[in-house]
Amino acid sequence: MSDSNPINNLSEIFRHFPGIGPRQARRFVYYLLSQDRFFLENLTKQIGELKKTIQQCNDCQRFFNNSYSASQSKCKICLDSSRDPSLLMVVERDIDLDAVEKSGSYRGYYFVLGGTIPILDKDPDEKIRAKLLSDLIKNKGASLEEVIVATSAHTEGDNTADYLQVFLRDMATQNGFRISLLGRGLSTGSELEYADPDTIKNALSNRH
Ligand SMILES: [Zn+2]
Repeated sequence: MSDSNPINNLSEIFRHFPGIGPRQARRFVYYLLSQDRFFLENLTKQIGELKKTIQQCNDCQRFFNNSYSASQSKCKICLDSSRDPSLLMVVERDIDLDAVEKSGSYRGYYFVLGGTIPILDKDPDEKIRAKLLSDLIKNKGASLEEVIVATSAHTEGDNTADYLQVFLRDMATQNGFRISLLGRGLSTGSELEYADPDTIKNALSNRH
């Protein structure tokens, strides 16, 4: 049931943001209250714009700013034919893809899982885009030689990697690609999102 107090209502919304607790959520609301009308109008406008111009790529599932063509359903990375078609890197979230792209050490294609699988989860297929991943791999056909599972080095990331290796096993045998895992660099336990370009480069060259 919705509260009649907008401070509580908005705090409740912020509380669902990644990594935000109830106190921080409240702090955001008080911050907004301290801003002028133009700031709030612009914020509302930008939130409204998000779903208008940002689209989800049909291939890799990342969110992208579709300013180039209204009919285009693929992002610039997936449309870039100069990339290596033999490589597909599977990452947890959009922000991980951004980190790998920024490192400049990878020239293949991507797939964004949209999450991770908690240990002993009853519906693992619901937590990640497993079906869409298998559809994309089928579409890639014989050009695909390697699927790099680039999940984070934490318990859920490892669990997701284990799940994917089983999930993709038959397809790998049939379609003739191998499944590799990122090598763990110096920063064990860290997430791709926070890894520096050298760590990503090393993790890629030490994949196994
Ligand atoms: Zn894409």
